[in-house]
Amino acid sequence: MGTQKLNADVIVIGAGIVGCSAALHLAEAGISTLVLEKGEISGEASGVNMGGLGGAGWGKSPSLQEHLTMGSLDIFKRLQNELGYDLEFRQSGSFTAIHNEAQYAYAKKQVLEGQNNGFNLELMSSYEAKALEPELSLDMLGYVYSRFRGQADPLKTTRAFGQAAIQAGATIETGTEVTAMKPQNKAWKLETNKGSYESGVVVFAAGAWSKSLGNMVGVEIPIEPIIGQMWATEPLPPRVFGTIGSFESRFHWSENLYAGMGYPPELTHSGSQRLTRHLYGRQRKSGEIIFGGDRRNVGFNKTIEGSGIDVNKGHATEILPLLIDLPIATTWSGLMPFSMDGNPIIGRVPHNENLFVATGLASSGFGRGPGAGMLIADLVAKGIAHPVLHESDLARFAN
Ligand SMILES: Cc1cc2nc3c(=O)[nH]c(=O)nc-3n(C[C@H](O)[C@H](O)[C@H](O)COP(=O)(O)OP(=O)(O)OC[C@H]3O[C@@H](n4cnc5c(N)ncnc54)[C@H](O)[C@@H]3O)c2cc1C
Repeated sequence: MGTQKLNADVIVIGAGIVGCSAALHLAEAGISTLVLEKGEISGEASGVNMGGLGGAGWGKSPSLQEHLTMGSLDIFKRLQNELGYDLEFRQSGSFTAIHNEAQYAYAKKQVLEGQNNGFNLELMSSYEAKALEPELSLDMLGYVYSRFRGQADPLKTTRAFGQAAIQAGATIETGTEVTAMKPQNKAWKLETNKGSYESGVVVFAAGAWSKSLGNMVGVEIPIEPIIGQMWATEPLPPRVFGTIGSFESRFHWSENLYAGMGYPPELTHSGSQRLTRHLYGRQRKSGEIIFGGDRRNVGFNKTIEGSGIDVNKGHATEILPLLIDLPIATTWSGLMPFSMDGNPIIGRVPHNENLFVATGLASSGFGRGPGAGMLIADLVAKGIAHPVLHESDLARFAN
Protein backbone atom coordinates (compact mmCIF):
# COMPACT_ATOMS: atom_id res chain seq x y z
CA MET A 1 0.00 0.00 0.00
CA GLY A 2 3.04 2.25 -0.12
CA THR A 3 2.79 2.59 3.64
CA GLN A 4 6.00 2.99 5.58
CA LYS A 5 6.20 3.03 9.35
CA LEU A 6 9.16 4.49 11.15
CA ASN A 7 9.11 4.27 14.89
CA ALA A 8 10.74 7.57 15.75
CA ASP A 9 9.95 9.13 19.11
CA VAL A 10 9.89 12.55 17.44
CA ILE A 11 9.23 13.64 13.87
CA VAL A 12 10.50 17.12 12.99
CA ILE A 13 8.89 18.64 9.89
CA GLY A 14 11.36 20.84 7.98
CA ALA A 15 15.15 20.65 7.51
CA GLY A 16 16.00 24.34 7.67
CA ILE A 17 18.28 25.67 10.40
CA VAL A 18 15.55 25.38 13.05
CA GLY A 19 14.58 21.78 12.22
CA CYS A 20 18.19 20.62 11.87
CA SER A 21 19.18 22.24 15.17
CA ALA A 22 16.12 20.72 16.89
CA ALA A 23 17.08 17.28 15.49
CA LEU A 24 20.70 17.69 16.61
CA HIS A 25 19.71 18.55 20.17
CA LEU A 26 16.97 15.89 20.36
CA ALA A 27 19.37 13.21 19.11
CA GLU A 28 22.04 14.36 21.56
CA ALA A 29 19.45 13.95 24.33
CA GLY A 30 19.12 10.29 23.27
CA ILE A 31 15.71 10.69 21.60
CA SER A 32 15.10 8.85 18.33
CA THR A 33 14.43 11.59 15.79
CA LEU A 34 13.31 11.64 12.17
CA VAL A 35 13.25 14.82 10.07
CA LEU A 36 10.89 14.94 7.07
CA GLU A 37 11.80 17.58 4.47
CA LYS A 38 9.83 18.23 1.28
CA GLY A 39 12.90 19.46 -0.62
CA GLU A 40 16.58 19.38 0.36
CA ILE A 41 18.37 20.13 3.63
CA SER A 42 18.80 23.92 3.62
CA GLY A 43 16.83 24.23 0.38
CA GLU A 44 14.78 27.26 1.47
CA ALA A 45 15.43 30.42 3.53
CA SER A 46 18.15 28.82 5.66
CA GLY A 47 20.35 28.25 2.63
CA VAL A 48 19.89 31.55 0.80
CA ASN A 49 20.04 34.21 3.51
CA MET A 50 22.69 36.89 4.01
CA GLY A 51 24.48 34.95 6.73
CA GLY A 52 24.43 37.70 9.37
CA LEU A 53 24.35 36.74 13.05
CA GLY A 54 22.87 39.07 15.68
CA GLY A 55 23.42 39.65 19.38
CA ALA A 56 24.73 42.44 21.57
CA GLY A 57 25.57 40.37 24.64
CA TRP A 58 23.46 38.68 27.32
CA GLY A 59 22.66 41.95 29.12
CA LYS A 60 21.59 42.30 32.74
CA SER A 61 18.39 40.26 32.47
CA PRO A 62 18.41 38.01 29.43
CA SER A 63 15.11 37.66 27.56
CA LEU A 64 14.11 35.28 24.77
CA GLN A 65 16.00 37.49 22.30
CA GLU A 66 19.30 36.97 24.14
CA HIS A 67 18.69 33.23 24.45
CA LEU A 68 18.12 33.11 20.71
CA THR A 69 20.98 35.38 19.60
CA MET A 70 23.72 34.72 22.16
CA GLY A 71 22.55 31.13 22.73
CA SER A 72 22.89 30.52 18.98
CA LEU A 73 26.32 32.17 18.96
CA ASP A 74 27.52 29.55 21.46
CA ILE A 75 26.16 26.79 19.20
CA PHE A 76 27.87 28.25 16.09
CA LYS A 77 31.15 28.29 18.05
CA ARG A 78 30.61 24.73 19.23
CA LEU A 79 29.85 23.38 15.75
CA GLN A 80 32.89 25.01 14.18
CA ASN A 81 35.45 24.96 17.01
CA GLU A 82 34.54 21.73 18.83
CA LEU A 83 32.76 19.53 16.29
CA GLY A 84 35.05 20.70 13.46
CA TYR A 85 32.51 21.78 10.81
CA ASP A 86 33.61 24.61 8.48
CA LEU A 87 30.77 27.12 8.70
CA GLU A 88 32.86 30.11 7.56
CA PHE A 89 31.78 31.45 10.95
CA ARG A 90 33.48 34.61 12.23
CA GLN A 91 32.52 36.93 15.05
CA SER A 92 33.26 39.85 12.79
CA GLY A 93 31.32 42.68 14.42
CA SER A 94 28.83 44.85 12.54
CA PHE A 95 28.48 48.49 11.51
CA THR A 96 25.07 50.17 11.22
CA ALA A 97 25.19 53.46 9.32
CA ILE A 98 23.45 56.61 10.54
CA HIS A 99 22.34 58.84 7.64
CA ASN A 100 20.83 61.95 9.29
CA GLU A 101 20.27 63.89 12.54
CA ALA A 102 16.94 62.26 13.40
CA GLN A 103 18.45 58.78 13.04
CA TYR A 104 21.47 59.91 15.06
CA ALA A 105 19.32 61.06 17.99
CA TYR A 106 17.41 57.75 17.92
CA ALA A 107 20.59 55.66 17.59
CA LYS A 108 22.24 57.51 20.48
CA LYS A 109 19.22 56.85 22.73
CA GLN A 110 19.18 53.17 21.73
CA VAL A 111 22.92 52.74 22.37
CA LEU A 112 22.75 54.46 25.79
CA GLU A 113 19.73 52.37 26.83
CA GLY A 114 21.47 49.24 25.59
CA GLN A 115 24.68 50.06 27.47
CA ASN A 116 22.70 50.72 30.67
CA ASN A 117 21.14 47.29 30.27
CA GLY A 118 24.54 45.65 29.93
CA PHE A 119 24.74 45.33 26.15
CA ASN A 120 27.86 45.80 24.07
CA LEU A 121 27.08 48.60 21.61
CA GLU A 122 29.20 51.57 20.66
CA LEU A 123 28.34 54.81 18.86
CA MET A 124 31.29 55.74 16.66
CA SER A 125 32.12 58.71 14.49
CA SER A 126 32.60 57.81 10.82
CA TYR A 127 36.29 58.60 11.27
CA GLU A 128 36.63 56.02 14.08
CA ALA A 129 34.55 53.40 12.26
CA LYS A 130 36.58 53.77 9.07
CA ALA A 131 39.72 52.86 11.01
CA LEU A 132 38.14 49.43 11.69
CA GLU A 133 36.30 49.01 8.36
CA PRO A 134 38.29 50.97 5.76
CA GLU A 135 35.69 51.00 2.94
CA LEU A 136 33.01 52.75 5.04
CA SER A 137 31.92 56.20 3.85
CA LEU A 138 32.98 59.25 5.84
CA ASP A 139 29.77 60.97 4.68
CA MET A 140 27.61 59.16 7.26
CA LEU A 141 26.91 60.91 10.58
CA GLY A 142 28.33 57.89 12.38
CA TYR A 143 27.97 54.15 12.89
CA VAL A 144 26.75 51.86 15.65
CA TYR A 145 29.36 49.17 16.19
CA SER A 146 28.24 45.87 17.67
CA ARG A 147 31.22 43.65 18.35
CA PHE A 148 29.37 40.40 19.17
CA ARG A 149 27.65 40.18 15.80
CA GLY A 150 29.05 37.74 13.28
CA GLN A 151 28.60 35.94 10.02
CA ALA A 152 28.63 32.43 8.56
CA ASP A 153 27.88 30.76 5.25
CA PRO A 154 24.18 29.78 5.33
CA LEU A 155 24.34 26.72 3.08
CA LYS A 156 27.47 25.24 4.67
CA THR A 157 26.13 25.97 8.14
CA THR A 158 22.65 24.52 7.76
CA ARG A 159 24.03 21.43 6.03
CA ALA A 160 26.52 21.08 8.89
CA PHE A 161 23.65 21.15 11.40
CA GLY A 162 21.99 18.40 9.33
CA GLN A 163 25.20 16.35 9.27
CA ALA A 164 25.77 16.85 12.99
CA ALA A 165 22.18 15.70 13.66
CA ILE A 166 22.77 12.56 11.58
CA GLN A 167 26.09 12.01 13.35
CA ALA A 168 24.26 12.21 16.68
CA GLY A 169 21.80 9.53 15.53
CA ALA A 170 18.94 11.38 13.79
CA THR A 171 17.59 10.43 10.35
CA ILE A 172 16.71 13.01 7.71
CA GLU A 173 14.45 12.06 4.79
CA THR A 174 14.46 14.62 1.98
CA GLY A 175 11.93 14.83 -0.87
CA THR A 176 9.23 13.90 1.66
CA GLU A 177 6.33 16.34 1.93
CA VAL A 178 3.90 16.04 4.83
CA THR A 179 0.41 16.49 3.34
CA ALA A 180 -1.87 15.51 6.25
CA MET A 181 -1.68 14.40 9.87
CA LYS A 182 -4.00 13.20 12.60
CA PRO A 183 -3.80 11.82 16.12
CA GLN A 184 -4.04 8.01 16.29
CA ASN A 185 -3.68 5.82 19.41
CA LYS A 186 -1.87 8.52 21.42
CA ALA A 187 0.56 9.02 18.54
CA TRP A 188 0.60 11.11 15.37
CA LYS A 189 0.04 9.61 11.93
CA LEU A 190 1.53 11.67 9.10
CA GLU A 191 0.71 11.28 5.41
CA THR A 192 3.40 12.13 2.87
CA ASN A 193 4.10 11.66 -0.84
CA LYS A 194 6.21 8.66 0.25
CA GLY A 195 3.65 6.93 2.46
CA SER A 196 2.69 7.33 6.11
CA TYR A 197 4.82 7.75 9.21
CA GLU A 198 4.06 7.56 12.91
CA SER A 199 5.65 9.12 15.96
CA GLY A 200 4.76 10.00 19.52
CA VAL A 201 5.70 13.67 19.13
CA VAL A 202 5.72 16.07 16.18
CA VAL A 203 7.66 19.34 15.93
CA PHE A 204 6.69 21.85 13.24
CA ALA A 205 9.83 23.60 11.94
CA ALA A 206 8.47 24.47 8.51
CA GLY A 207 9.40 28.16 8.31
CA ALA A 208 7.19 30.15 5.92
CA TRP A 209 4.99 27.05 5.38
CA SER A 210 4.01 26.72 9.05
CA LYS A 211 0.45 27.97 8.58
CA SER A 212 -0.43 25.06 6.25
CA LEU A 213 0.84 22.54 8.84
CA GLY A 214 -1.36 24.21 11.47
CA ASN A 215 -4.32 23.89 9.10
CA MET A 216 -3.77 20.11 9.02
CA VAL A 217 -4.65 19.93 12.73
CA GLY A 218 -7.15 22.81 12.83
CA VAL A 219 -4.77 25.26 14.54
CA GLU A 220 -4.14 28.81 13.35
CA ILE A 221 -0.38 29.47 13.16
CA PRO A 222 -0.25 33.11 12.04
CA ILE A 223 2.84 33.01 9.82
CA GLU A 224 3.10 34.82 6.50
CA PRO A 225 5.75 34.19 3.83
CA ILE A 226 7.74 37.41 3.29
CA ILE A 227 10.03 37.53 0.27
CA GLY A 228 13.60 38.73 0.80
CA GLN A 229 15.84 39.35 -2.20
CA MET A 230 19.61 39.69 -2.55
CA TRP A 231 22.32 40.51 -5.04
CA ALA A 232 26.06 39.84 -5.30
CA THR A 233 29.07 41.33 -7.05
CA GLU A 234 31.73 39.21 -8.74
CA PRO A 235 34.37 37.94 -6.27
CA LEU A 236 37.04 40.44 -5.24
CA PRO A 237 39.91 40.38 -2.72
CA PRO A 238 38.97 40.99 0.94
CA ARG A 239 37.72 44.58 1.36
CA VAL A 240 34.77 44.35 3.79
CA PHE A 241 35.25 42.59 7.13
CA GLY A 242 32.18 43.10 9.32
CA THR A 243 28.49 42.95 8.44
CA ILE A 244 27.01 46.24 7.23
CA GLY A 245 23.57 47.71 7.85
CA SER A 246 21.67 50.99 8.07
CA PHE A 247 19.60 52.70 10.76
CA GLU A 248 17.10 54.04 8.21
CA SER A 249 14.53 51.23 8.51
CA ARG A 250 14.90 50.82 12.27
CA PHE A 251 14.22 54.52 12.76
CA HIS A 252 11.25 54.41 10.38
CA TRP A 253 9.70 51.38 12.11
CA SER A 254 10.23 52.98 15.54
CA GLU A 255 7.94 55.81 14.44
CA ASN A 256 5.51 53.76 12.32
CA LEU A 257 4.43 50.52 13.96
CA TYR A 258 2.00 49.37 11.25
CA ALA A 259 0.32 47.21 13.92
CA GLY A 260 -3.09 45.69 13.19
CA MET A 261 -2.78 46.37 9.44
CA GLY A 262 -3.46 42.74 8.51
CA TYR A 263 0.17 42.03 7.67
CA PRO A 264 3.32 41.51 9.77
CA PRO A 265 5.21 44.53 11.17
CA GLU A 266 8.60 45.78 9.98
CA LEU A 267 8.13 45.29 6.25
CA THR A 268 9.70 47.60 3.67
CA HIS A 269 6.56 47.70 1.51
CA SER A 270 2.80 48.01 1.84
CA GLY A 271 1.54 46.33 -1.33
CA SER A 272 3.77 47.75 -4.07
CA GLN A 273 4.43 51.02 -2.18
CA ARG A 274 7.86 51.41 -0.56
CA LEU A 275 7.71 52.48 3.10
CA THR A 276 11.42 52.46 3.93
CA ARG A 277 14.80 51.13 2.85
CA HIS A 278 16.30 48.25 4.83
CA LEU A 279 19.85 47.02 4.37
CA TYR A 280 22.13 44.15 5.36
CA GLY A 281 25.26 42.79 3.70
CA ARG A 282 28.79 41.46 3.97
CA GLN A 283 31.63 40.06 1.87
CA ARG A 284 31.68 36.28 1.55
CA LYS A 285 34.86 34.28 2.06
CA SER A 286 34.67 33.49 -1.67
CA GLY A 287 34.94 37.24 -2.33
CA GLU A 288 31.48 38.37 -3.51
CA ILE A 289 30.01 41.37 -1.73
CA ILE A 290 26.34 40.54 -1.06
CA PHE A 291 23.46 42.78 0.03
CA GLY A 292 19.71 42.61 0.52
CA GLY A 293 17.01 44.23 2.61
CA ASP A 294 13.54 44.42 1.03
CA ARG A 295 10.72 42.55 2.80
CA ARG A 296 7.52 42.24 0.80
CA ASN A 297 4.25 40.45 1.54
CA VAL A 298 3.37 38.83 -1.80
CA GLY A 299 2.53 35.24 -0.83
CA PHE A 300 4.50 32.19 -1.97
CA ASN A 301 6.09 34.07 -4.82
CA LYS A 302 9.88 34.28 -5.15
CA THR A 303 9.98 36.56 -8.20
CA ILE A 304 12.67 39.20 -7.83
CA GLU A 305 11.55 42.82 -8.12
CA GLY A 306 14.32 44.54 -10.10
CA SER A 307 13.69 48.12 -8.97
CA GLY A 308 14.05 46.96 -5.35
CA ILE A 309 17.49 45.57 -6.16
CA ASP A 310 18.47 48.95 -7.67
CA VAL A 311 17.24 50.85 -4.60
CA ASN A 312 19.13 48.43 -2.35
CA LYS A 313 22.34 48.82 -4.35
CA GLY A 314 22.02 52.61 -4.14
CA HIS A 315 21.57 52.37 -0.38
CA ALA A 316 24.59 50.07 0.03
CA THR A 317 26.71 52.34 -2.19
CA GLU A 318 26.00 55.34 0.07
CA ILE A 319 27.72 53.41 2.88
CA LEU A 320 30.37 51.49 0.87
CA PRO A 321 31.32 53.77 -2.05
CA LEU A 322 33.50 51.05 -3.65
CA LEU A 323 30.26 49.40 -4.83
CA ILE A 324 29.68 52.14 -7.38
CA ASP A 325 32.09 50.50 -9.83
CA LEU A 326 31.00 46.93 -9.15
CA PRO A 327 28.16 45.59 -11.30
CA ILE A 328 25.58 43.15 -9.95
CA ALA A 329 26.56 39.63 -11.01
CA THR A 330 23.73 37.54 -9.51
CA THR A 331 20.43 37.91 -7.66
CA TRP A 332 18.32 35.46 -5.65
CA SER A 333 15.44 35.36 -3.17
CA GLY A 334 13.84 33.34 -0.38
CA LEU A 335 10.78 33.28 1.89
CA MET A 336 11.04 34.37 5.52
CA PRO A 337 8.58 33.23 8.23
CA PHE A 338 7.06 36.40 9.74
CA SER A 339 4.45 36.07 12.48
CA MET A 340 1.65 38.63 12.67
CA ASP A 341 3.28 40.37 15.66
CA GLY A 342 6.81 39.94 14.34
CA ASN A 343 7.90 37.75 17.26
CA PRO A 344 8.88 34.08 17.37
CA ILE A 345 6.44 31.22 17.96
CA ILE A 346 8.27 28.54 19.94
CA GLY A 347 6.51 26.11 22.26
CA ARG A 348 3.64 23.68 22.62
CA VAL A 349 0.68 23.86 20.25
CA PRO A 350 -2.26 24.53 22.60
CA HIS A 351 -4.93 21.79 22.90
CA ASN A 352 -2.79 19.28 21.02
CA GLU A 353 -1.07 16.48 22.84
CA ASN A 354 2.64 16.18 21.99
CA LEU A 355 2.67 18.77 19.23
CA PHE A 356 5.26 21.57 19.20
CA VAL A 357 6.17 24.48 16.92
CA ALA A 358 9.36 26.52 16.38
CA THR A 359 9.07 29.27 13.80
CA GLY A 360 8.42 32.98 13.24
CA LEU A 361 12.11 33.90 13.31
CA ALA A 362 11.43 36.36 10.50
CA SER A 363 14.46 38.09 8.99
CA SER A 364 16.90 36.90 11.65
CA GLY A 365 16.24 33.17 11.79
CA PHE A 366 19.66 32.12 10.56
CA GLY A 367 21.34 33.76 13.52
CA ARG A 368 18.59 32.73 15.96
CA GLY A 369 17.62 29.32 14.53
CA PRO A 370 20.17 27.18 16.39
CA GLY A 371 18.95 28.57 19.74
CA ALA A 372 15.30 28.09 18.75
CA GLY A 373 16.02 24.46 17.83
CA MET A 374 17.80 23.91 21.13
CA LEU A 375 14.98 25.46 23.20
CA ILE A 376 12.28 23.37 21.50
CA ALA A 377 14.37 20.18 21.81
CA ASP A 378 14.86 20.94 25.49
CA LEU A 379 11.10 21.40 25.98
CA VAL A 380 10.32 18.13 24.15
CA ALA A 381 13.00 16.21 26.07
CA LYS A 382 12.21 17.52 29.56
CA GLY A 383 8.56 18.48 29.26
CA ILE A 384 9.31 21.78 31.01
CA ALA A 385 9.45 25.04 29.10
CA HIS A 386 12.40 27.37 29.66
CA PRO A 387 10.94 30.48 31.36
CA VAL A 388 11.78 32.73 28.39
CA LEU A 389 9.42 30.68 26.20
CA HIS A 390 6.43 32.44 27.75
CA GLU A 391 7.30 35.24 25.30
CA SER A 392 6.89 32.98 22.28
CA ASP A 393 3.73 31.06 23.27
CA LEU A 394 1.38 30.50 20.31
CA ALA A 395 -1.54 30.97 22.73
CA ARG A 396 -0.91 34.76 22.73
CA PHE A 397 -2.73 34.99 19.37
CA ALA A 398 -5.94 33.37 20.68
CA ASN A 399 -8.65 35.87 21.61
C1 LIG B 1 17.12 36.98 1.42
C2 LIG B 1 17.13 36.61 2.88
C3 LIG B 1 18.12 37.14 3.70
C4 LIG B 1 18.15 36.82 5.06
N1 LIG B 1 19.18 37.26 5.83
C5 LIG B 1 19.31 36.82 7.10
C6 LIG B 1 20.45 37.15 7.89
O1 LIG B 1 21.38 37.81 7.45
N2 LIG B 1 20.51 36.70 9.17
C7 LIG B 1 19.52 35.95 9.70
O2 LIG B 1 19.62 35.59 10.89
N3 LIG B 1 18.43 35.58 8.97
C8 LIG B 1 18.31 35.99 7.69
N4 LIG B 1 17.22 35.63 6.95
C9 LIG B 1 16.12 34.88 7.59
C10 LIG B 1 16.43 33.39 7.76
O3 LIG B 1 16.92 32.85 6.55
C11 LIG B 1 15.16 32.64 8.19
O4 LIG B 1 14.54 33.28 9.30
C12 LIG B 1 15.51 31.21 8.62
O5 LIG B 1 16.29 30.58 7.63
C13 LIG B 1 14.25 30.40 8.88
O6 LIG B 1 14.64 29.08 9.15
P1 LIG B 1 13.55 27.94 9.25
O7 LIG B 1 14.27 26.67 9.54
O8 LIG B 1 12.46 28.39 10.16
O9 LIG B 1 12.86 27.92 7.79
P2 LIG B 1 13.35 27.32 6.37
O10 LIG B 1 14.80 27.46 6.16
O11 LIG B 1 12.45 27.90 5.34
O12 LIG B 1 13.07 25.78 6.54
C14 LIG B 1 11.77 25.24 6.59
C15 LIG B 1 11.79 23.92 5.84
O13 LIG B 1 10.52 23.27 5.99
C16 LIG B 1 10.27 22.56 4.80
N5 LIG B 1 8.83 22.27 4.72
C17 LIG B 1 7.82 23.17 4.66
N6 LIG B 1 6.62 22.52 4.60
C18 LIG B 1 6.89 21.19 4.63
C19 LIG B 1 6.07 20.03 4.58
N7 LIG B 1 4.74 20.11 4.49
N8 LIG B 1 6.67 18.81 4.61
C20 LIG B 1 8.04 18.73 4.70
N9 LIG B 1 8.85 19.79 4.74
C21 LIG B 1 8.30 21.02 4.71
C22 LIG B 1 10.75 23.52 3.71
O14 LIG B 1 10.99 22.86 2.50
C23 LIG B 1 12.00 24.11 4.34
O15 LIG B 1 13.18 23.43 3.95
C24 LIG B 1 17.14 35.96 5.60
C25 LIG B 1 16.18 35.40 4.75
C26 LIG B 1 16.15 35.72 3.40
C27 LIG B 1 15.10 35.11 2.52
